[in-house]
Amino acid sequence: MRKRMPSPFSFPALKKDDKVIVTAGKDKGKVGKIIKVDRLYHHVYVENINMIKKAIKPNQTSREGGFITKENFLNASNVMLECPHCHKPTRIAHKFFENGTKSRICKKCNEVIDQKK
Ligand SMILES: [Zn+2]
Repeated sequence: MRKRMPSPFSFPALKKDDKVIVTAGKDKGKVGKIIKVDRLYHHVYVENINMIKKAIKPNQTSREGGFITKENFLNASNVMLECPHCHKPTRIAHKFFENGTKSRICKKCNEVIDQKK
């Protein structure tokens, strides 16, 4: 199988549980929470966004086949983070602190996006 090279430089700093706004596609304008991030392929899975029907074949645990609906991936470039402070779709900047930690910063209001741990 051919592997694609990771390109972390172009991947937006999105994380699981981030609130994002969809900026393209059939769910444009919708807001949801990231449930999964695939950094290698620049895919994000957003709760209740871009739902697809998936066929299930009968197996030993469920004797009946059928369909389930589940989230399909979105391209990371098609979502924007909603800033928890100014509630606008924003791009992410990084701020480096003297103690070596790094935080994500909203480019619009310059507030720290990440919660302190
Ligand atoms: Zn902001």
